[in-house]
Amino acid sequence: MSSLAPWERAARGAMLLDAEGRLAPTIFAEMSALANRTGAINLGQGFPDEDGPEEVLEAARQAITDGVNQYPPGRGLPVLLEAVAAHQKRFYGIELDPSLEVLVTAGATEALAATLLALVDAGDEVVTLEPFYDSYGAVIGLSRGQHVTVPLRGPDFRVGHDELRRAVTDRTRIILLNDPHNPTGTVLDEATKSLIVELAHQHDALIVSDEVYEHLIFDGVAHHPISTLPGAADRTITVSSGGKTFSTTGWKIGWLSGPAALVERILAVKQFLTFVNGAPFQPAIAVGLGLPDSYFEGIAATLQHKRDLLSAGLVAAGLPVSRPQGSYFVVADARGLGFDDAAELCRRLPSLAGVVGVPISAFCHADLAAEYSSLVRFAFCKRVDVLERASAQLAALRPGL
Ligand SMILES: *Cc1c(COP(=O)(O)O)cnc(C)c1O
Repeated sequence: MSSLAPWERAARGAMLLDAEGRLAPTIFAEMSALANRTGAINLGQGFPDEDGPEEVLEAARQAITDGVNQYPPGRGLPVLLEAVAAHQKRFYGIELDPSLEVLVTAGATEALAATLLALVDAGDEVVTLEPFYDSYGAVIGLSRGQHVTVPLRGPDFRVGHDELRRAVTDRTRIILLNDPHNPTGTVLDEATKSLIVELAHQHDALIVSDEVYEHLIFDGVAHHPISTLPGAADRTITVSSGGKTFSTTGWKIGWLSGPAALVERILAVKQFLTFVNGAPFQPAIAVGLGLPDSYFEGIAATLQHKRDLLSAGLVAAGLPVSRPQGSYFVVADARGLGFDDAAELCRRLPSLAGVVGVPISAFCHADLAAEYSSLVRFAFCKRVDVLERASAQLAALRPGL
């Protein structure tokens, strides 16, 4: 591993280095290109196709007009630091000192990168769930860590407690979670989170919890950050972002929170990655975080409806689906249409149904990729009319193709 250049470690970590050591294009790029070429509906990449709340958009325009256009402070504009602290208090009862225990970052992506680069030593193990968001593997590689995974096993993608116990050892530096989980939509249950905290104590590991889908949660399930569990707060960094909650993925305003001493170490790295970003967008996201409860309930209800709409279309097409409790992805099983290889179905789906998805194997190492080879992820964060069209086209498919 150490003989590889940093870019190779990143690419290998994200499963983008092929057998000859060349950088392979991501499946997302391949599938988006396919959607563009064929005019198919792109349910592959997870970004919304509608603007977020007008108050938030207007606040950004106003901030530009008001001259909020130069470098903000390194930790973030106080108005956003305070809004993050107030949000954590309002929704979860978490008390944070905004000036010491919160850090604004260039999206959750930079929060994760800075955290791992700051806290992982060469050879340290980082435990993640699998399938995993591709940037996890890349930044573990960049930080010279060893990536250890705990598989989420179907049909409902639960964490096996024995597998979790085996994965976390004295070599573990960080347990990196994603709750709610992309790509499976799983929300971690309380028993699993308790076990994670217990193992972190037992092996003196830190917990990093990526909660970018904290408000995109369904069926009356509530999001409980792992940092609220007894004994967790003093060893947990919680990461989130405005991108998913306010449909502003292009603004790249994220943040992290946790113990002041850890935040300071992460700041030491973060300030030399981007230094700062998105000055006029920071007060706008602060406005978003302060929106009334009805906004947050509304986005969850709207998205739950969209989940049900697309799921019904997939089922009508003959594809069994998971029932995600959070995030904006649903997982379908290509075997319902006689495909063992989801990648093969994904390549043919544009001509069969005018729809594009991505194979779950893109989020897995080789072992689990084989086990999950028939699963496809579809994003339902799209306009209702787009999802209705996708569902109707899918429903026109018949098994036995
Ligand atoms: C989208 C996403 C991110 C990236 O968030 P940004 O704020 O856009 O950097 C991080 N983690 C997961 C699981 C995501 O799905």
